[in-house]
Amino acid sequence: MAVKKEKHKMPEQKPKDRIKNFKEVPFGYSKEIAIEEAKRCLQCKNKPCMEGCPVEIDIPGFINCIAEGDFDKAAEVIKAKNSLPAVSGRVCPYEEQCEGLCTIKKIGEPVGIGRLERFIADYERNKGTSNPKKVKSTGKKAAVVGAGPAGLTCAGDLAKMGHKVTIFEAFHVPGGVLMYGIPEFRLPKEIVEAEVEYIKKLGVEIRYDMIIGKTIETEELLKEFDSVFIGTGAGLPRFLNIPGENLDGVYSANEFLTRVNMMKAYEFPKYDTPIKIGKIVATFGAGNVAMDCARTALRLGANKSYIIYRRSEKEMPARDEEIEHAREEGVIFKLLTNPVSFYGNEKGHLNEVECVEMKLGEPDESGRRRPIKIEGSEYKIKIDTALIAIGQSPNPLIPQTMKDLKIQKWGNIETDEDGRTNIPGLFAGGDIATGAATVILAMGAGKRSARAMNEYMNSKKWPKKNKA
Ligand code: FAD
Repeated sequence: MAVKKEKHKMPEQKPKDRIKNFKEVPFGYSKEIAIEEAKRCLQCKNKPCMEGCPVEIDIPGFINCIAEGDFDKAAEVIKAKNSLPAVSGRVCPYEEQCEGLCTIKKIGEPVGIGRLERFIADYERNKGTSNPKKVKSTGKKAAVVGAGPAGLTCAGDLAKMGHKVTIFEAFHVPGGVLMYGIPEFRLPKEIVEAEVEYIKKLGVEIRYDMIIGKTIETEELLKEFDSVFIGTGAGLPRFLNIPGENLDGVYSANEFLTRVNMMKAYEFPKYDTPIKIGKIVATFGAGNVAMDCARTALRLGANKSYIIYRRSEKEMPARDEEIEHAREEGVIFKLLTNPVSFYGNEKGHLNEVECVEMKLGEPDESGRRRPIKIEGSEYKIKIDTALIAIGQSPNPLIPQTMKDLKIQKWGNIETDEDGRTNIPGLFAGGDIATGAATVILAMGAGKRSARAMNEYMNSKKWPKKNKA
């Protein structure tokens, strides 16, 4: 039977409706569509898709279960490797991971692996997640710093191995960027909360409002626990460093999205969140974070929401799906454009940005073509709010407070493949080690570290080459 060349589409809210609310945009597959999509999988013997999955899910295995209508078994196959499937099923960049390696790509669109993962995770959650099997205790204790995807995955896997795990989280809620960064319309908070509940059911304890490096030193954790994982992420905003950036009305993406998410601006008017968005908003940058800012601005009432980016469409780092959603919602893309200065009124509030047009030259060290300023092309745009979304650096507190810890040039903790730092018993992974990356890479790092921590706690051996 010939394989349908196109992926089944997910039904979603219409752009004109969704920009007036913060509800999730896609509705997900129905049972019937999921089975039809699963039947597109060729069940390749060499499983190329699995090579693109940092958390090692048996992808053809769970898809086959869906094709046969056995959704419970599909959930079991996924959960054996991934404790956060409803999250990864929504935000993972599949096109670059598993789906990028799908055999069907040679003739059409890859199997909708992400959409199927999401379908199963939602099916299981709606049905009521079953309790995980109890495992025999090893008597060993591990500490995990940070309850983002790296820390949660590491903690969940260690608990499945029988270790007693305590997560120390700086915020009053778990999830990291999943809660305070990614907006409700892409990843509803109740979904993150439900996945965290599963991690707790595995026996993991989470202690909130604990800033490691301030409330407790990392060295103290190393004394009290048999091993420690650092998954503190990359939450330090980068700025443009241009005149006027300290005007009222200029926010880092991080501050803006944290206010929206943690102070519940998405439940307006029930919550009175301190954000004045005005009518014209410009977001600088073109990654996922920038798309989230520009789309959030529309939902908060902006009439015009610009994405201003110094390279061209081809170099935009955001996922295609995010760019498409932003376009459909009316976000205006000003590409090959760079800001040079912000201007404000007499009260010190932003009212204009001066930009310059750019052209592309030879590739730079990132492999992307270098943007070059076109002399004399300066012009001004009236704006009320500027959102700076040009990247984040690793959180500096732990690197700064552990003087013997080896740090790399950009402030990230140096580790080997399995997360070992230069300090015996101390592991790190996710954005704190790689710099700002993706949810699935953070989860993969948490997984590899959990394995290495298990090995270390059983043997207390530390490779010589890793020591300070
Ligand atoms: P984080 O998620 O940052 O979690 C770190 C946790 O550590 C936080 O809870 C923090 O409070 C805590 N912490 C920090 N310091 C301390 C301390 N000293 N003591 C105790 N706790 C501490 N990736 C995708 O794959 N797809 C997307 O669509 C996507 N969209 C994104 C949108 C936004 C707005 C942002 C900001 C990022 C996005 N990313 C996306 C990137 C992705 O979210 C990150 O790569 C991922 O969350 C990194 O996980 P992590 O566990 O390493 O760190």
